[in-house]
Amino acid sequence: MTERIERLVALGTTDEHTECGCCGRVNLKETLVMAVRDVDGNVGEAVAYYGVVCGARAAGRPVGEIRREAKDGDDAVREAEAAAKRLAAAADFVRCEQWWTAEYGTADRDEILKRTGKLPFEVYREARAALGV
Ligand SMILES: [Zn+2]
Repeated sequence: MTERIERLVALGTTDEHTECGCCGRVNLKETLVMAVRDVDGNVGEAVAYYGVVCGARAAGRPVGEIRREAKDGDDAVREAEAAAKRLAAAADFVRCEQWWTAEYGTADRDEILKRTGKLPFEVYREARAALGV
């Protein structure tokens, strides 16, 4: 058996391409985003959008395996997006704290609430409105 130097992999799925780039079947619910992974593990740009059966056949692997690979890719993208959202929320919070410090001389929300008689959501809304976030 010869060692393959490259491997066709499924990076994930997409519903933006609904035609199989292999057999031309149309109106698929989704397609696999296929790309080539080299011997060093580097994955190239997406090269094709295949239906699951064609993708598995092209990769020379079972349908279940190619589906799992695509799902892992989708999960990784979702996790990265969620992490980016958390990071953005944390950055917004830091900016709010800076604004509270400038406005009230403290970022301690309990202290601000006690002093102003405002509710927590009002203090957030006020800072976010002032910061335009
Ligand atoms: Zn096909």
